[in-house]
Amino acid sequence: MITDSFPGVDATHDSTLQSWVLGANAPKTDFPIQNLPFGRFLGDDGTPCMCTAIGDDVLDLESVSKLGLLTGHAAEVLQVGTGGRLDRLMNQPRESLRALRVALSSMLDQRAGPSHSVQRCLRPQAVTKMLVPVAPSNFSDFFTSIHHASNSARISARLPLLHANFHYLPVAYHGRASSVVVSGTQLQRPYVQYLPHQDAAPIYGPTSRLDFECELGALVGQGTEIGDRLTLEQARHRVFGLTLLNDWSARDTQRWESTPLGPFLAKSFMTTLSPWIVTMEALAPFRTAAVARHADNRPLPHLDDEENQAWGGIDVQLSILMRTQRMREADTPPRCISRPNFKDQYWTVFQMLTHQTSNGCSVLPGDLLGTGTISGADETELGCLLELTEGGKRWVHVGAEKRHWLENGDEVILHARCEKPGYRSIGFGTCEGTVVAAERS
Ligand code: MN
Repeated sequence: MITDSFPGVDATHDSTLQSWVLGANAPKTDFPIQNLPFGRFLGDDGTPCMCTAIGDDVLDLESVSKLGLLTGHAAEVLQVGTGGRLDRLMNQPRESLRALRVALSSMLDQRAGPSHSVQRCLRPQAVTKMLVPVAPSNFSDFFTSIHHASNSARISARLPLLHANFHYLPVAYHGRASSVVVSGTQLQRPYVQYLPHQDAAPIYGPTSRLDFECELGALVGQGTEIGDRLTLEQARHRVFGLTLLNDWSARDTQRWESTPLGPFLAKSFMTTLSPWIVTMEALAPFRTAAVARHADNRPLPHLDDEENQAWGGIDVQLSILMRTQRMREADTPPRCISRPNFKDQYWTVFQMLTHQTSNGCSVLPGDLLGTGTISGADETELGCLLELTEGGKRWVHVGAEKRHWLENGDEVILHARCEKPGYRSIGFGTCEGTVVAAERS
């Protein structure tokens, strides 16, 4: 085992582990036995069922529980989440979640050999209808990329490029939980109010500046009570895992409505998640240092500790792909337009959760904290069209076509993978959505 690794690395991350579910051993799969993310699918009786992904299959964890295929503490932990209540499973202590991971890893381990009963709990992902992994009670969207923050201000001609608060707290607004949907849901172009030109009167109609934002969503595990203030150390135990998140945005109304209180309808019409939550346990090998801070930009003590600086970052390589209507009709595959990395975010997910509770605000299991657009320093690492097109001033090329903003028929696809020498690569699945025309008023 490599020794320069995060202390959470254990035998479940051993790169030589293989599964008797053969698809899990394919080099390019997102779901080797080292991943074991959680999600929910629509069961045959029409109710949500929790599951994990292994290779090209899902393992129905409700059936695993019902058939008594796990024993001891892991069986008790799994039982808590049955009935599609992944939020209840997420509310379990870290040690219990680790015990469940170890038990699932052993069950699927090649050395255990295929069990007829476990095989009966597998179904191909291709024919499984996935649901949003958790229906969050609350959704906050943060603004944690220093590159996205300064690029957005420059493009919108706002000064200063970074407000004084940026170095002191992870800026956020309260998002809308009711419109969080699973990958594959079509996005109907929203009606919004906006100024067609500077100095013109506002109009109400389909947005003309539709954008995506490539983000990750951090899901809260164990909840808190009103008045609880999480330390960074406590927050490290309470982030359950990460999912892909597309924060669809209408830039015309965002500009018009955001003064002086921030975004409202520019973002609340829809937010898309990938079906899988990759757990913090699975991400352990890919933990890395947080972005280095200048001595005069240290956060206040409650948002700063050595472990956050040493291991608060997570090396997640994201890819943003697009496919237009014409490309789909010609059977042309999606084209990658940008590749940001999550390790470049200025604030960590643990600082986000600590900040969220720092006034005593409670969080519930399954609450969603969006990281904000993930952008790096390079122009090949920008996380939204606003940045990629400089606010509509230059083109983004998608195959033979070009775009300032999203057009009807455009499909936006987010992928992410973690890779590190000596470890098995894991992926996040897909977060995709296609834009369709607004309904006529
Ligand atoms: Mn956002």
